[in-house]
Amino acid sequence: MRCPTCGTRAAWHASSHRPFCSLTCRLIDLGVWLDECYRIPGKEADPGDVP
Ligand SMILES: [Zn+2]
Repeated sequence: MRCPTCGTRAAWHASSHRPFCSLTCRLIDLGVWLDECYRIPGKEADPGDVP
């Protein structure tokens, strides 16, 4: 398996941050996910609020 964030192959059985290779990649993936969550309603609200 590969790390979803950086694509690095790692020994998952030795990592406590599965499926990520490290805590950094774990936080990055989480940050991107949250960022998209905030962007989606923002984009949807923009064309609706502005006539
Ligand atoms: Zn990684």
